[in-house]
Amino acid sequence: MSSEFEQRRSLIGAGLENRDLDAMLVTSPANVRYLAGFTGSNGALLVLGGDAVFFTDPRYAIQSAHEVSCRTQVCKGPILPAVAELVSSRRLRRIGFERAHVSYDAFECLRANLPLNSSLEPMAGWLEAHRMLKSESEIEAIRRSVATNSKAFEAAARRVRPGMRELDLAAEIDHQMRRLGAEKPSFETIVATGERSALPHAHPGGAVFRTGQPILIDMGTFRDGYASDMTRMLFPGAPSARMRRLYGAVLEAQLAAIDTVRPGVTTARVDGAARKVLKAYKLERAFVHSTGHGLGLEIHEPPRIGKKDKTKLAAGMTITIEPGVYLEGLGGIRIEDTVLVTPSGCEVLTPTSKDLRLV
Ligand code: ZN
Ligand code: ZN
Repeated sequence: MSSEFEQRRSLIGAGLENRDLDAMLVTSPANVRYLAGFTGSNGALLVLGGDAVFFTDPRYAIQSAHEVSCRTQVCKGPILPAVAELVSSRRLRRIGFERAHVSYDAFECLRANLPLNSSLEPMAGWLEAHRMLKSESEIEAIRRSVATNSKAFEAAARRVRPGMRELDLAAEIDHQMRRLGAEKPSFETIVATGERSALPHAHPGGAVFRTGQPILIDMGTFRDGYASDMTRMLFPGAPSARMRRLYGAVLEAQLAAIDTVRPGVTTARVDGAARKVLKAYKLERAFVHSTGHGLGLEIHEPPRIGKKDKTKLAAGMTITIEPGVYLEGLGGIRIEDTVLVTPSGCEVLTPTSKDLRLV
């Protein structure tokens, strides 16, 4: 039986003809991992009609022999001239490349080394469209990632005290993640307290937790290569009535969005469901980002769940649902879960409670 990677490569190989390509050059680390299983940093995969060739450098000779099942060429020098040489020797004409992931320098290098009668064809979104639908083994990896993330949150939340700094909690979270088996955080852990919680992507700093002030924590792990993503609020001491009202509104919006998630529904409708609730609370202008995003080998991948996104959800997609409101001078509230689209609706994978939590 062929491996999952071989199946993926043959799907892409079979799609070349329709796109009028002789080969597809894959260089983004997530797509290389998706198609070849390679977890290192320097690798390229050339997918051909019937087979594929993987290129890397001598640092990865041993690792790639374990991870990659297709023919591998270990290049002593730069990789791209070796790719061009193979293109030339096989007389390939039209070579697709990932337009969002090839630098100008790399493009120039390829053009200079390719034969004159071959052309480079910019491609976008093709491999990512395949990646939107997760296989059973990918869903299992995401479940493990989500479970690890929630356990790390619980372990870190137990240590929260007034007087602790954002940086202390962020360090504790990252420590717990690794201790529990994560490879690393799936993005820089966000811990923001007080007024700073109104910055949706705050970097943790020296601000200290104070009684009654919100603490926004947005965290995710990579486990077996797959991302998780969760945002929760903690309150050291009772929050103000206004803060409680905001929390209730965001939770209602988050639940309403989750309620719409099922196959066939457009991502714009999911976003609209969250926005409608916040509008009823006159908070729609404080909701300054989209409702969510896909996640998998990358923390942000298609589909986007925003106002104008028309992707139809399908069983096997993994997405986040994360409405938030941000009020300058007061603070922000965001609540985020990782959600799996199932044949009959959805399953919220994140087990962590969303009740307003005092610490
Ligand atoms: Zn997040
Ligand atoms: Zn997110």
